[in-house]
Amino acid sequence: MNVEQKLSTNKFVVDEGHPHIVIHQEKMDAATVKALTVVCPAGLYTLDDKGRIIFEVAGCLECGTCRVACAHMPGAMEWNHPRPSFGVQYRCG
Ligand code: SF4
Repeated sequence: MNVEQKLSTNKFVVDEGHPHIVIHQEKMDAATVKALTVVCPAGLYTLDDKGRIIFEVAGCLECGTCRVACAHMPGAMEWNHPRPSFGVQYRCG
């Protein structure tokens, strides 16, 4: 089983209306925006044709990599763990 297949077995319980990650692109520099599109292992950050971040919190692995990528940009991201019973449930490792 490869990594993609293992990840596809995870279950995500989305807390509708209470995203555990909120981004504030206006407080990020261009390098940080670009970094987000590269570092997220789930590929949840993409850019639209105007360079605005499109972020989908469903599918988040809660690894914290994006939080680290924004750590030097105060106020650029609100990152919290999901509320109890929400978020990723790992099924295979
Ligand atoms: S915590 Fe990890 S998986 Fe979730 S959005 Fe950030 S980088 Fe992606």
